[in-house]
Amino acid sequence: MFRIAVLPGDGIGREITPQAVKALKAVGQRFGHGFEFEEALVGGAAYDATGHPLPAETLAMCCRSDAVLLGAIGGPQYDELPVNLRPEIGALLPLRRELALYANLRPCILFPGLSHASTIKEEVISGVDVMVIRELTGGIYFGEKSRGVNAGGDVTATDVLTYSVAEIERIVRFAYGVALKRRHKLCSVDKANVLESSRLWRETVTLLAAQYPEVETSHMYVDNCAMQLIRDPRQFDVIVTENMFGDILTDEASMLTGSIGMLPSASIGGEVGLYEPSHGSAPDIAGQNKANPLATILSAAMLLRYSFDMETEAQAIENAVHEVMKQGYRTPDLAEPGMKTVGTAEMGDLVVARILAPETGAST
Ligand code: NAD
Repeated sequence: MFRIAVLPGDGIGREITPQAVKALKAVGQRFGHGFEFEEALVGGAAYDATGHPLPAETLAMCCRSDAVLLGAIGGPQYDELPVNLRPEIGALLPLRRELALYANLRPCILFPGLSHASTIKEEVISGVDVMVIRELTGGIYFGEKSRGVNAGGDVTATDVLTYSVAEIERIVRFAYGVALKRRHKLCSVDKANVLESSRLWRETVTLLAAQYPEVETSHMYVDNCAMQLIRDPRQFDVIVTENMFGDILTDEASMLTGSIGMLPSASIGGEVGLYEPSHGSAPDIAGQNKANPLATILSAAMLLRYSFDMETEAQAIENAVHEVMKQGYRTPDLAEPGMKTVGTAEMGDLVVARILAPETGAST
């Protein structure tokens, strides 16, 4: 029996997470696996109910599970809370830290028929397959934050950016491991022309590169990388970078997939992995059955692959998503003339039908 902690969170998280659970149940049914789901509150929903965005029982449930499936958290009504009670800082960051999730993987793949949905020209993005690996438990997001007043009486704010050699080595070795299973190319992204932490990052990568002669290692400044991702994304195989650069570059890279609603993620490192879509709680469309659940469903596929070592089962979900896209079903974020626009729950049902009956090309 595999125990999966389910944290729907806020906004569209409550609509998309059930679709991924349905997909996992369908995989369990088809392949004969027992998945046990346990649900808990996190984010704004947890704050409203308990006064804290990451209640102790939610954390305990995650720690005793085999993997965590998260929807999304946050919303404008929580923006004015004290910093440590805001959903992202009070829940997401401690969850990553407690579960020792130092590596965040975001595969950017262009799905069939979606090239038009991107704002980038088809000839630039067709065939894109980039894996962005972001360091997740260090850097400026976890550094000390403070306010002060300078000598001139002006208010100042400070965020500290620290990386140790051990932290850099850990994520870069992990990225080399991924590159070895892919096209053997690793691009390390930093800002070594300006930041001391980036100079240490680059020195460390350079030393490690000698241990991985089978992998072609390159270095790129983050500003150039932001431009190259749009100019010629097919030059990349695996990108490895620090926390904040990874946060920003992965949102940019999501446009290569057509919609941020298509971009899954896996956060791994400790014993329990956490899987969530790359987007937020989308308050602008929450509760309207408009959200694209595919990033969350594809995150469930990553859960099977990385936490349960179930490659065939992961591919069953990914193939089902491919099939549904090929047959022209789209949520409103990807809608276009000639395609069949469906809501969140219906998209989940379509994927489930194809997981359960892949060879019949099931339609609902
Ligand atoms: P967002 O990702 O929630 O939304 C950005 C835009 O993308 C919106 O127009 C939204 O409608 C659209 N979008 C996002 N996901 C979609 C989906 N699955 N289907 C269709 N359209 C989708 O980012 P934001 O608006 O900057 O943030 C909203 C809230 O989410 C904030 O409170 C923020 O703090 C939080 N947030 C949470 C996470 C997380 O839970 N990991 C990540 C980012 C932002």
